[in-house]
Amino acid sequence: MIILKGIPASPGISIGKAFLFDSQEVSVIKKKISKESIPKEISRFEEALIKTRSEILKIQDNISREMGVEHAEIFNAHLLVLEDRMIIDEVIKHLKKDCYNVEYVFTNVLKKYIVVFQKMDDEYLRERISDIEDVGKRMLRNLMGIKRQTLADIKEKVIVVAYDLSPSDTATMHKKNVTGFVTDIGGKTSHTAIMAKSLEIPAIVGLETVTKKIRNDDILIIDGTSGFVYINPDKKTLLKYQTEKRKYTRFTKDLEDLKDLPSETLDGRKVGVAANIELPEEITSVISHGAEGIGLYRTEYFYMNRNGLPDEEEQYKAYRDVAEKIAPHSVIIRTLDLGGDKFLSQLEVPKEMNPFLGWRAIRLSLAKPDLFKIQLRAILRASAHGKIRIMYPMISGLEEIEAANRLLYDAKEDLRRKNMPFDKNIEVGIMIEIPSAALIADILAKKVSFFSIGTNDLIQYSLAVDRVNEKIAYLYEPAHPGVLRLIRSIVEAAHKNNIWAGMCGEMAGEVAFVPLLVGLGLDEFSVPAATVPQIKKIMRSLTYKDAKKLAEKALQLSTGKEVEVLLADNLRDLIQGQDKQ
Ligand code: PEP
Ligand code: MG
Repeated sequence: MIILKGIPASPGISIGKAFLFDSQEVSVIKKKISKESIPKEISRFEEALIKTRSEILKIQDNISREMGVEHAEIFNAHLLVLEDRMIIDEVIKHLKKDCYNVEYVFTNVLKKYIVVFQKMDDEYLRERISDIEDVGKRMLRNLMGIKRQTLADIKEKVIVVAYDLSPSDTATMHKKNVTGFVTDIGGKTSHTAIMAKSLEIPAIVGLETVTKKIRNDDILIIDGTSGFVYINPDKKTLLKYQTEKRKYTRFTKDLEDLKDLPSETLDGRKVGVAANIELPEEITSVISHGAEGIGLYRTEYFYMNRNGLPDEEEQYKAYRDVAEKIAPHSVIIRTLDLGGDKFLSQLEVPKEMNPFLGWRAIRLSLAKPDLFKIQLRAILRASAHGKIRIMYPMISGLEEIEAANRLLYDAKEDLRRKNMPFDKNIEVGIMIEIPSAALIADILAKKVSFFSIGTNDLIQYSLAVDRVNEKIAYLYEPAHPGVLRLIRSIVEAAHKNNIWAGMCGEMAGEVAFVPLLVGLGLDEFSVPAATVPQIKKIMRSLTYKDAKKLAEKALQLSTGKEVEVLLADNLRDLIQGQDKQ
């Protein structure tokens, strides 16, 4: 049994078979074939060799034109593998002798070939292993007629193991078959981790070398709450975790009983608990967990995993559907937040050195007013059918709000001209997730109807810690005194200007922070749907008076670690107090 520890990204326990997923990796199935099928398998093999060869020649040609002949020469090694008589003869020999599908036979021959290279003393020859693997993958894809594997293709229950998963990969996962995932890289607030929480799939990220340690079909236990991964566990561990898994399911079921109770403190302060969604399908879960509305709808996912961009009509229907289903509660629709770790193949966005500091979110929307106005018109039209609020992401200063509002005004005019109904009093709010916006919150509060604190980015920018980089994840501290001060001043600026302030970053969903955030005066928590009952439970077991005292105490401390200890002690007392009742 091997035990690894990573960054817990989405809670829960999953036990199951490993499935190595790599956008370039191909999983091969072993299949017995009849003697009569052998000639067909051989000709499939020959066709794949020809196709792979022509693909490589094409790549070589492109590279030599764009980068020079010397760069193209790397591919000579790939071509040599394809022309290697030893490999070809060996594959045909085994096809005839063993009667298995060609994908399986080819993979085995290649593995043996790699072992030979691994034993060589010559470093140059050893380095050719990656060329062989590369060509092997290309051959397999051609044999199997696959362009690129997607997580939607998985047909049995597995735990996905990957170097990295993009948010759009994650969005295509079928919860039914993917029961958990682990990755080499990534941080707690990467959009992939956020997606996992929304889908209620246990996940661990930042494991560094997990893809090297796990093979297809290994048995895994992943504990998304603690961050531990057990590879091929012994009987005792397996039994222990089967019990833990049952306990966890019971725990989440018990919490669900709270779903219809109001979210208020023991001394009667009402604090909203809403949910974050990425995909409209999540609404069922939002309602079943008792959320009081949607505090953040990340609309950019609507633009992903599809051909072409969604037009106004399609967006209107989707937003209207969400608004109608969540009624009588409201939905905050956040306008496009592309860029950072979320990309679109349909939009030509140049590669940037620092995508999180680059052409992202409102910056991109303002640079593409036609695209932005399509979305604004769709949101406005949907607002005639339910309670919708608009929210702009990544606001850094006043001018951006004004520029976005000018386009909103144009969108309203367009609709007026066409006699299309919309909510004339639609509220507009902003995400506070850039330190400059937090520092001038008093100025911005005069121009908008609400704030929503985006701690995922606010922490990343104020502590200068890339939110998706596992190497510096230890520095990503929501409890950092600098972060607490920023939150306090944002909420104070909102209240002084008679607007409300919510929080939709992952910090809002961390139970230990709830008392502190209530004490800082936060008006609304927006969290992953499955977390709503836990937040309500904590909220209903504290008093606002005590929460304020706790916040004052926390603000006196000098380090994030000290704050964490204070919050953990406080949470333990709260839970024990509950148990005594
Ligand atoms: C945030 O930054 O906290 C946030 C909620 O937005 P996103 O995670 O989509 O960047
Ligand atoms: Mg953000």
